[in-house]
Amino acid sequence: MPKFVIAMMMHETNTFSPLPTPIGSFARAEALSGAAAIAEAEGTNTPLGGFIDLAREVGAEFVVPMAANAYPSGLVTEAAFEQMAGAIVEAVAAGCDGVMLALHGAMVTEGADDGEGELLTRIRRVAPDVPIAVALDFHTQMTEAMARGATVITGYRTYPHIDMAETSRRAGRTLLRALAGEVAPRIVWGSRPIMSSTLVHTPAREPMKSLMRVASEAEDTGAVLNASVFGGFPQADIPHLSLSSVVVCDGKTAEGELLLARILDEAWEQREGFLFHPEPLSAQVARARSLDGGPIILADHGDNTASGGTQDVMSVIEEALRQELDDVCAGPICDAACVAQMIAAGVGAEVTLDLGGKVDMPAMGLKGKPLTVTGRVKCITDGVFTVTGPMATGATIRMGRTAVLDTGRMQIVVSEQRSEPYDLGVFTHCGIDPRRKKYVLIKSRQHFRAGFEPIAKHIVMCDGDGCTASDLKLFKYERVKRPLYPFDMDMRLGRND
Ligand SMILES: [Zn+2]
Repeated sequence: MPKFVIAMMMHETNTFSPLPTPIGSFARAEALSGAAAIAEAEGTNTPLGGFIDLAREVGAEFVVPMAANAYPSGLVTEAAFEQMAGAIVEAVAAGCDGVMLALHGAMVTEGADDGEGELLTRIRRVAPDVPIAVALDFHTQMTEAMARGATVITGYRTYPHIDMAETSRRAGRTLLRALAGEVAPRIVWGSRPIMSSTLVHTPAREPMKSLMRVASEAEDTGAVLNASVFGGFPQADIPHLSLSSVVVCDGKTAEGELLLARILDEAWEQREGFLFHPEPLSAQVARARSLDGGPIILADHGDNTASGGTQDVMSVIEEALRQELDDVCAGPICDAACVAQMIAAGVGAEVTLDLGGKVDMPAMGLKGKPLTVTGRVKCITDGVFTVTGPMATGATIRMGRTAVLDTGRMQIVVSEQRSEPYDLGVFTHCGIDPRRKKYVLIKSRQHFRAGFEPIAKHIVMCDGDGCTASDLKLFKYERVKRPLYPFDMDMRLGRND
């Protein structure tokens, strides 16, 4: 019976985010390792859940020395990285037949631009020949160190990421075939110097849709073992930011190289399609106001947690109140002090809050700006619910203590912890039914589509302030490798352009 080390070390680092990332940020689940971590992940549509379920199905033995997953934020502290990487390397060194890693692929630490490459390099020092399957997020910043360290790599095919468990299974199945001697995985990869905006690069739409289809068909028809396309994550000022693709070949790499060139040349050809075009916030909210029916989703993508936002920027809520949108539910806003104030006042009490705006964003040149709002405390919860929608189905969400402020026009969910709203539970767990609201104002850029697109009559993207803004001209990049599209719009690749 094979024995596996299965581990998760996931973080998408937004180097412009003012939020620190110590080990405490990774403790979203009940436990960071062992039986409790396994119990929490098992059967869920998550990367760790996918590996665990596959190992169980084939009757393999396994240990989980690390199950760390933090919401995106600033640089990972050295201490946190050492604790996570140390536990994984130690478990591999103790002996195993294979390793299955759920990584994000965009971790930047205080000491390393490529956290995943560093982890894999350390594992290779203690286990040069052990096969390693790696499941990555679609927003991976791919590197040579990752390609060299891994035996198999797969990436999500969706954004919102509704295929997390399946991505792990795709990697794990190739690993099992390699262990059985059926295949001999060899990785080839490449990239193009494109910084694609996350708001327009989902595989659900062109131009990414065609690229992903080419990769998926090559894998699904067995032409190659695995093939993935990675959009990259632009809110990181690191040298290896790019749009990339990874192909896992069986023995010979010629077919994989051809596939890579086809995908990446097509991406370069279609590069204008990856540009984001900004619009004034006031015009966007006015458009939402003019639309009939509901619910109308207003997506505040300048400050979303799943890209490293502080989740306390009030600009979109302020504009919605200014334009007197009525019958709105909004949030979640992360503001522990306001939650405490509402709990102290009690349900039914009238309170005036200086809501949000507690965190400055020096890298963006933005100062925190609280919004004074008055309303009644509608309800108070523990902020815990189970996801029922298609993304991370079955996972437990912990928002910290949570309270709802009802201003009359707007019901605002306020929580102690940050949490990306991709499931209706963010509202329903505190007694608000978003299906019955005229407007649903949420801090999300893309993941909200998993739970909220099915109930939406209209979706209006709102260019609010924050460190996850989609207009890349708002960021001061100093370390990205130039030339880079779209900064150097007239650049030529040389070999094929
Ligand atoms: Zn992602």
